[in-house]
Amino acid sequence: MCGVFGIYGHSEAANLTYLGLHALQHRGQESAGIVTNDGERMTLHRGMGHVIDVFPSDTLAKLNGEHAIGHVRYSTAGGSFLKNAQPLAVDYARGSIAIAHNGNLTNAAAIREKLEDRGAIFQSVSDTEVIVHLVAFSRQREVEDRVADALSQVEGAYSLLCLTDHSMIAVRDPYGIRPLAIGRLGDVPVVASEPTSFDLIDAEFVREVEPGEMVIFDEDGMRSMRPFKTAPRKACIFEYVYFARPDSNLDGVSVYEARKNLGRALSKEHGIDADVVIPVPDSGVPATIGYSEESKTPFEMGLVRSHYVGRTFIEPQQSIRHFGVRLKLNPVSDTLKGKRVVVVDDSIVRGTTSRKIVKMLRDAGAKEVHFRISSPPTQWPCYYGIDTPTRKELIASSHSVEEINQYITSDTLEYLSLEGMLEAVTSTRRSRQNDSNDKNGSNGAKKSLTVVNPDADGSPFCHACWSGEYPIEFRPHPRTRQMRLLDT
Ligand code: AMP
Repeated sequence: MCGVFGIYGHSEAANLTYLGLHALQHRGQESAGIVTNDGERMTLHRGMGHVIDVFPSDTLAKLNGEHAIGHVRYSTAGGSFLKNAQPLAVDYARGSIAIAHNGNLTNAAAIREKLEDRGAIFQSVSDTEVIVHLVAFSRQREVEDRVADALSQVEGAYSLLCLTDHSMIAVRDPYGIRPLAIGRLGDVPVVASEPTSFDLIDAEFVREVEPGEMVIFDEDGMRSMRPFKTAPRKACIFEYVYFARPDSNLDGVSVYEARKNLGRALSKEHGIDADVVIPVPDSGVPATIGYSEESKTPFEMGLVRSHYVGRTFIEPQQSIRHFGVRLKLNPVSDTLKGKRVVVVDDSIVRGTTSRKIVKMLRDAGAKEVHFRISSPPTQWPCYYGIDTPTRKELIASSHSVEEINQYITSDTLEYLSLEGMLEAVTSTRRSRQNDSNDKNGSNGAKKSLTVVNPDADGSPFCHACWSGEYPIEFRPHPRTRQMRLLDT
């Protein structure tokens, strides 16, 4: 779970990257970093915490140069330490390179072992460092060929940005698992995990980086290479369900509209007579609007979310009922008292939040509580960059829907089916295409829409966390040879 942002050729490169990262903060809140290039040298600053805390104005002022890339991070591979924060930046025999990576490599451990056998010394336990070493080891002359050479050896999910001595390179893996978009601020190119971050800096969306594409920005402009083997299109559908911002548009699909369609589908599959439907805010809101529209059940904000829950807070000395969840969510009793309530959330992971929410709603006077989830039961961990717990901790991997219903103490619990979810997101794309055809007169498939290469199951989406069907094999490796001397 990470976000990347880059800009090539702007006098305020560091400031604009700071703003771009701020708009991507939801993609990673553990650490943030920016590296700039002033034409002579690279300057890097990374820290633990939110963008706003990691970059006070005096720190930003020291990040000189017209070219910058940045990163916000949750740890998916490699633990939460400063030395794993990104961008990673190194000087090597042929120059300097910095890398910011969103995704997760599935064969990183095996490659690392081979590199260590050749004498490579790793500074971090992040899978991204493998790419840095492969670039350094490559015998290709041009830096973009070295990057392509390195990436042709790795497997898994990567949407990444490289800052080199004379260019910025944006690359997306052949499956297109994580998003990556190109924008333009006047004539200046910008690249970001989600195009919504362009809005804040007044840049306009140009197009997605296509799956398997490498885009090079340098003083000659922008050019594209396709150095990798093609693969079936497999965008992560969880980005639409939960992870991306609702005001983003990914691969031509509005995340907000997709979530509303998920809610509509949920109502068609599992609608129930009720007095109100309420979301678990914030992520459950668009699906609840869709559910409400479809079922004609009145929408209410039965739970209010505090946006001021920091990473640390002072806990009361005496125990307070539901303290942890109340800090974040509080019920609006008057909208719940005596009512039959449908509550909509995007997913259940361990089930602990849902259980507390049901209790809270009943304590606030709800007569019935019916939980509805706008995706199928989460049964499998993600190996491609979403931070999910182990299989054992995912409640749906070992419990039936009815058992989960009993555990969270709801009156009824239902999940959207896999087919319903896929159809809801796919139909959002179709209705966008029809709209644009109408606007363009005829067949106007817009440039911004990505060509879909459906694989055998006909789906352009990765849905492994629900189906267990992984498009890329994950190869864990038990052996770690180097000592961990520098854990901080
Ligand atoms: P739980 O109480 O563990 O079942 O957590 C459920 C809540 O976690 C839901 O409200 C989801 O929106 C949210 N959620 C789902 N996936 C993730 C994730 N990978 N990281 C953090 N939160 C998540």
